[in-house]
Amino acid sequence: MRILIVEDEQKLAEALKESLEYERFAVEIALTGEEGFFLINARHFDLIVLDLMLPGRDGIEVLSTLRKRNLQTPVIVLTAKDTIEDRVLGLDRGADDYLVKPFAVPELLARIRALLRRGRGERATTLRLAGLEMDLMTRGITREGRPIELTTKEFELFEYLLQRQGTVVTREMLARDVWNVSARAVPLDNVIDVHMTRLRKKIDQGFAFPIVQTIRGVGFIVRGPG
Ligand code: CA
Repeated sequence: MRILIVEDEQKLAEALKESLEYERFAVEIALTGEEGFFLINARHFDLIVLDLMLPGRDGIEVLSTLRKRNLQTPVIVLTAKDTIEDRVLGLDRGADDYLVKPFAVPELLARIRALLRRGRGERATTLRLAGLEMDLMTRGITREGRPIELTTKEFELFEYLLQRQGTVVTREMLARDVWNVSARAVPLDNVIDVHMTRLRKKIDQGFAFPIVQTIRGVGFIVRGPG
């Protein structure tokens, strides 16, 4: 489980990182809203701990932008003051929970675990895009009613892309999250490209619109027409 901490108080951020790593979470720190936003766009996180009071782009701005982009990553906001306005604002902009500073680390850990559990329970069992349906329970896929057969790896790959429809996925993300290896240790570009070619053939051949698209020099995107 990967967690991002966006917090400008470096000491607090590092103390949280240490506690979370002790609980076997993989943790990254962003000290500004900009940095946080960059990491959120570049990598996959299972949960974000977001301080509201940040220099530059503040927590609310980061939160609003990521929800507008349809990123459903659970977010716990940290507020310095316990005012109704702050709470309402955070929850209103799409935070899943909030904690008032100062807080006890075990309290944060409990909230994180609760949110991650809730996230699993509420996960959609059918993913849809432009006439295509992927049933995560039966592992069946149809496009305009026509069944599509994928191998296990192709299914995993396509599920990853479909979960992030409308956003660009890099080869590095696929290597790390679908093949579970760091791109630097083992270059996987060829393996990924071979799988993407096969996947594209199965998903798009015979249809008017290609759902699986290559973004030259960057990676791939799965999206519908218009
Ligand atoms: Ca702060």
